[in-house]
Amino acid sequence: MTLIDEPTTAPIGGPSLPQVRRLVTELPGPRSAEILARKSEAVAAGVAHSMPVVTVAAGGGVLLDADGNSLIDLGSGIAVTSVGNAHPKVAEAVAAQAAQFTHTCFMVSPYESYVDVAEALNRLTPGDFAKKTALFNSGAEAVENAIKIARKHTGRQAVVAFDHGYHGRTNLTMALTAKSMPYKSGFGPFAPEVYRVPASYPYRDGLTGPEAAALAITLIEKQIGADNLAAVIIEPIQGEGGFIVPADGFLEDVVAWCRDNGVVFIADEVQTGFARTGAMFASEHFGIEPDLITTAKGIAGGLPLAGVTGRADIMDAAHAGGLGGTYGGNPIACAAALASIDVYENEGLVERATEIGALLTSRLREIQQEDARIGDIRGHGAMIAAEFVDPATGAPDAALTSAVAKAAIAQGVIVLTCGTFGNVIRFLPPLAIGDELLGEGLDVIAAALKAL
Ligand SMILES: *Cc1c(COP(=O)(O)O)cnc(C)c1O
Repeated sequence: MTLIDEPTTAPIGGPSLPQVRRLVTELPGPRSAEILARKSEAVAAGVAHSMPVVTVAAGGGVLLDADGNSLIDLGSGIAVTSVGNAHPKVAEAVAAQAAQFTHTCFMVSPYESYVDVAEALNRLTPGDFAKKTALFNSGAEAVENAIKIARKHTGRQAVVAFDHGYHGRTNLTMALTAKSMPYKSGFGPFAPEVYRVPASYPYRDGLTGPEAAALAITLIEKQIGADNLAAVIIEPIQGEGGFIVPADGFLEDVVAWCRDNGVVFIADEVQTGFARTGAMFASEHFGIEPDLITTAKGIAGGLPLAGVTGRADIMDAAHAGGLGGTYGGNPIACAAALASIDVYENEGLVERATEIGALLTSRLREIQQEDARIGDIRGHGAMIAAEFVDPATGAPDAALTSAVAKAAIAQGVIVLTCGTFGNVIRFLPPLAIGDELLGEGLDVIAAALKAL
């Protein structure tokens, strides 16, 4: 059966897709295999893919491939389609805006939806102070602009990022990103004035939050000097680095030090933002109020949009014309963001993320009881990870991790790996997934682990 060839009038994406796992071919099926063969001829080799299927529709907690296979989605396109893929409110808002105008460039002739998104971000981000926002196209672009703003505000140049940090693939954000392969190797030279210090990684460093913060702060003071430092940037829960939740007190102490020293504290919430962690923003779990917050991924239900939001006086440091871009805050992306924010706020997605987190954590702990190769289970809300280790030594087991992921994928479950040591399976299901489908996905992973 090749659904791609079937004439359809009704849309087959969105929540109307049957919420089941069903394989009708091996993966990839013949139609996917044919397109993937063309991909390898036509698309640059550096643009890799992890699932051996070609998508034709997606919605709720499933993805439909070109051969009619229905897969359980535990990745949300890397934490993007949190509201559910092709959410009807998003699809409708996109279609309506596309019929009105598709682009003017906000820097040429502004439109209201951009202002609406800015107001929503100013309202939703933590911190009870006057805020402003600027919109961009991608997470990396938001991070680059947050650094530009912090430098202009402070008149200083240095930036501190952390071990295990991930901030993107552009030149400045490669410099901020910790991991060489695959993100940086061979792509230098990197932007100057970027310094790296240890982060809090409770499972591996054995330090309390205040101890880990003191270590980082001492290095900053001795090796850089607060007077030279424009900004400290960190993901409140590190994403690509392994879903590392810092020990209590770590972020709080780093924020307090930044405040005492006139350093801009930037929370990169590109992955953790928008209900993902069971709070609208992960900073809330730690009681911190960042000076600037970068957002993207979950912001617009799959449309490319990103933002920098923060203290009005800092955001206003850049001169007129110093920020922007041709497409930043595109009207279709803004319409999708407003629809998505409506869903986050009015369809209980923060609460749903917490429920999903409880389900994931309790099932993973059951599996861990019987299998010491799961060294650590951590995360918040619908951002949960399992770290795989050699039980005898605690050494990272990347081979086992990729074998589990590969086996689950072959059974029709989309799982993603991450971690500095490649030994973490991360769960980022759409918040629209049902309990049954989520449970089935975990059963497949448990069986795959048992068989290895
Ligand atoms: C994905 C990600 C980025 C980069 O976002 P892009 O949209 O891929 O440029 C930056 N920071 C974090 C924390 C991310 O997870």
